[in-house]
Amino acid sequence: MSSTHRPLDTRSGLVLDTHELGRRAGAMKQIHTSVEAPPDLGIAVIAVPPKSPIELDLRLESVVEGVLVTGTAVVQLQGECVRCLNEISDEMEIDVMELFVYPGSEATEDEASRLVGDLIDLEPLVRDAVVLDLPFQPLCRDDCAGLCVTCGADLNLDPGHGHEAPIDPRWERLTSLDAAGEKTYNVNGPQQD
Ligand SMILES: [Zn+2]
Ligand SMILES: [Zn+2]
Repeated sequence: MSSTHRPLDTRSGLVLDTHELGRRAGAMKQIHTSVEAPPDLGIAVIAVPPKSPIELDLRLESVVEGVLVTGTAVVQLQGECVRCLNEISDEMEIDVMELFVYPGSEATEDEASRLVGDLIDLEPLVRDAVVLDLPFQPLCRDDCAGLCVTCGADLNLDPGHGHEAPIDPRWERLTSLDAAGEKTYNVNGPQQD
């Protein structure tokens, strides 16, 4: 990725400074912090709201080739259920395990993440993980009942919801007649003299 060679924005919460760690293999640093999410993190139907908190729980470890970062990043998600159109709020935990190689050291792969000076940028990592894991058809719950195709009512709120089958106009007139047309007739009592 050529983008790793651009100067990193130290204001981004996902850019971490490894200066304190030094370059002595075996040195270690725990990071436990909350940072702001960058813009445009997600897909059209569900995304991480810009500036929402990302909880970082990471371990930076100095190794021979660079800095190994392991741990988790928890992001907030907001989207819309594709069936009932209600808002979805969720969170996603991303497993982080990435070796950032020192600048100038021979990368074993072209794709390797690199330190820029003392800085590492977690954003490409978080971005890839989020975008690859997001559902293209997000649901508020697996068995979301969706909306009534006739009137648009939310069937989750009204499970018994239904519409009577429309009446065939040819029968309409008949149903209006009193079906209980039982005749009452006089029963002749016993004949009296
Ligand atoms: Zn739904
Ligand atoms: Zn309906």
